[in-house]
Amino acid sequence: MGDIRPQSRDEFRVAILCALPPEAEAVLDLFDCFWDDDCDAYGKAANDPNDYRTGRIGQDHVVLCITGVGKARAATATSFLLSSYTRVQRAFVVGICGGVPRPNRHDAGAEILLGDVIISSAVVQFDLGRRYHGGYFEIRTSTQDRLGNADPSLAAQLRSLHTIHNKDRLEECAARFLSELQEKRPGQYDYPGTAQDRLYPSNYHHRHRGTEPCGCTDERPCAAATMVPCPDVGCEETMIVTPRQQPAQKRQLEGARKTLGTQAQAPAVHIGSIASGDTVMKSAEVRDQIAEAHGVIGFEMEAAGVWDLPQLACVVVKGVCDYADSHKNKTWQSFASAAAASVMKGMLRHRVRTDERPPLSTIDGETKRSSDFRGKTGKVSSLAYLPLHQQNPEHHASCKTWSTKTKLP
Ligand SMILES: [Zn+2]
Ligand SMILES: [Zn+2]
Repeated sequence: MGDIRPQSRDEFRVAILCALPPEAEAVLDLFDCFWDDDCDAYGKAANDPNDYRTGRIGQDHVVLCITGVGKARAATATSFLLSSYTRVQRAFVVGICGGVPRPNRHDAGAEILLGDVIISSAVVQFDLGRRYHGGYFEIRTSTQDRLGNADPSLAAQLRSLHTIHNKDRLEECAARFLSELQEKRPGQYDYPGTAQDRLYPSNYHHRHRGTEPCGCTDERPCAAATMVPCPDVGCEETMIVTPRQQPAQKRQLEGARKTLGTQAQAPAVHIGSIASGDTVMKSAEVRDQIAEAHGVIGFEMEAAGVWDLPQLACVVVKGVCDYADSHKNKTWQSFASAAAASVMKGMLRHRVRTDERPPLSTIDGETKRSSDFRGKTGKVSSLAYLPLHQQNPEHHASCKTWSTKTKLP
């Protein structure tokens, strides 16, 4: 594919959806080149209000859209995207999420740390269900395994990541992309370190702990407390959950020489169900209940709006920036965005590409429209598999000229 610019929107198969600009920033920083640096080249369908960036990541032409927060916005933006980019088959929902820490799990790789990345195998909509008298809420079990609908190769790639060899390969690749990002934007995606990875017991809530009345109760922090990190309200160091196996191992790497220090930040990849809904999860107790009942390992807010679109295979790739509890703050958001973008790029890099074929409907349609065209279907099919310069040398030359102007990081 090299740097040959796509001729139309029809050549884009991959969409990247981010809720917020900082999440998109990390993805854009990992584009290998842009197709719209000088000006927009592809337009969009009538009535489509989205804004897009187009470019190439690895072997794939990708279109990126910032959807806004929440499943309704994500669903609306994605529907419009599909009206413009009608042949997109795979959507990555990339950004940040809350993780389920699982500190008592001692099986290898089960513990989830801040800065790790979750890849969804299924989505549970945790705000869809029945509310009973007394406040009990029953989530409608809606694990929707739709990965095979538009892009069976995505489901196959996720299955392959259940082998240690393939997951290690993805993690190593993502760690390299993460280091590249950090070199490109010094200070923007720094690793906060395990000292900032504070996990408190589920029943220990974030609140002011002084004697001054401020409105904090054990059920709910006051507005001021929600705005500041744990040390500033008095959440005690002694209450932090210990020992956790993985942070201890990372701490050893952090204290070691530089190359090992870089290894400390390498994000671990976890594959599992992710809970999605319009509520920001800030209760460790509710988090734990949902995690136990539905086997989810993370919480986010957009996937439920995209997962259900039948013509699209969707995968959520989100960096863990907090533990979906009352202590959550923004310390890890930039790093987690960068980690997620790096894993997504690794997934694109490692996917086995399918041979491109022209849609059969086009060939059949042409055959029906023109009697002169009858019998030439074979010619059209063979043309479609020729390298571009043999199909149309003039156009190929102009593309090459154009592509020399594109920015290559
Ligand atoms: Zn307070
Ligand atoms: Zn706290």
